[in-house]
Amino acid sequence: MTTAILEKRRAQVATVKDGKASIACAKPSLSGSVSQRACVFCGSRVVLYPIVDAVHLVHGPAGCAAYTWDIRGTVSSGPELHRLSFTTDLRERDVIFGGAEKLERALRVLIARYTPKAAFVYATCIVGVIGDDVDGVCRKIAVETGIPVLPVRSEGFRGSKKDGYAAACDALAGLIGTLEPAEPVPPYSINILGDFNLAGELWILEEHYRRMGVNILTRITGDGRVDDIRRAHHAKLNVVQCSGSMTTLANHMKETYGVPFKQVSYFGIEDMSAALYDVAAFFGDPVLHEKAAALVRDEVTRLLPLIESYRARLTGRKAVIYVGGAFKTISLIKALRLLGIETVVAGSQTGRPEDYDTIAGLCNPGTIIVDDSNPVELSTFARERGADLFIGGVKERPIAFKMGMAFCDHNHERKLPLAGFEGMKNFAEEVYASLMTPVWGFVRNPRKGGAA
Ligand code: SF4
Repeated sequence: MTTAILEKRRAQVATVKDGKASIACAKPSLSGSVSQRACVFCGSRVVLYPIVDAVHLVHGPAGCAAYTWDIRGTVSSGPELHRLSFTTDLRERDVIFGGAEKLERALRVLIARYTPKAAFVYATCIVGVIGDDVDGVCRKIAVETGIPVLPVRSEGFRGSKKDGYAAACDALAGLIGTLEPAEPVPPYSINILGDFNLAGELWILEEHYRRMGVNILTRITGDGRVDDIRRAHHAKLNVVQCSGSMTTLANHMKETYGVPFKQVSYFGIEDMSAALYDVAAFFGDPVLHEKAAALVRDEVTRLLPLIESYRARLTGRKAVIYVGGAFKTISLIKALRLLGIETVVAGSQTGRPEDYDTIAGLCNPGTIIVDDSNPVELSTFARERGADLFIGGVKERPIAFKMGMAFCDHNHERKLPLAGFEGMKNFAEEVYASLMTPVWGFVRNPRKGGAA
């Protein structure tokens, strides 16, 4: 394990001992390490992109927009304006003379043509370098057109992807509290923060909450609507899944509007059930609790025979988990355990110290925990620990396949819902299919001693 780690990254890799692992995190990525993290702008884009009735305008070169075009597998129950990728296409002339006028023109054209509910303007690296007054242009066009025009301060070099999440939350904070509800808000109303409706997952969760008698006031940001977000301050509770991206906004709403928040996860039976019980406990109504218990009982009774059948065939397999947010790593460790699979390497791009403490507490001694890792580390650790399965995203898929290892996509462009009880069923099927496919018997597998 030691030869794969750059000297300055050693503190970000640890081995679990007695349920603990001391690890450094929340640091800028090390030059030359080939971090799997995306840039600040991309971090903002993935958070705001699922707002479906807004114009998303990338102020920068066309490449920044192309790189993030249709970046999530998020789906809409209505408008699909979010799926169009607009850019000011800054060129050398704009870099010399400034791009503000071009930005103004682009906003006027887009707002007139598409009549969006709002416009988000993303600042990219070059805009930070040439110093266009993006805030000033947004203010001017907002007055002129009468819709919110929100600057997203997401210059790519400002930090890590996580700083992009914060920039997106700042933009959202500019929307919240600017519209009052047309009708009285039902007493058990929540906002769902940090679910992005990948492959329609949010609709599964909404159905669960509705069966309990809980009203979803605003979705931030999956299948999101600008006017709903503007009214979001009237919810009684924010239920936060992707804590890495949404805690900044949840804290803002707590401080500004007194809306408390609870952190949950919707992946796996254990965490999905806890998410429902936590909301019932918050409202303190025994009827809600009874409905949540009935729902969990029904769903678990339906799922368990299937899980048991997979577990019988998967027990003893070993997995690597490397995903963006640590909350997902935590849920995946539990979900894999239910399938009889041991996690031998666990990591994330943006985990916090408390996340890694939880991960270490869930893992067996000897498990490698890693923060902001890279392909060399991940492939070395996978080989050393004899992993059979890799769970990650688009950047980890080639690592797994080059090693002849089964892979399960848990990234944001996937087309298979993995949240909720239905999602656990899909996850079990996906893991089983990937591990059992006969192709692994035909590929040369250097991790098991074959030729590269
Ligand atoms: S790093 Fe800068 S130039 Fe590259 S995609 Fe991000 S914003 Fe654009």
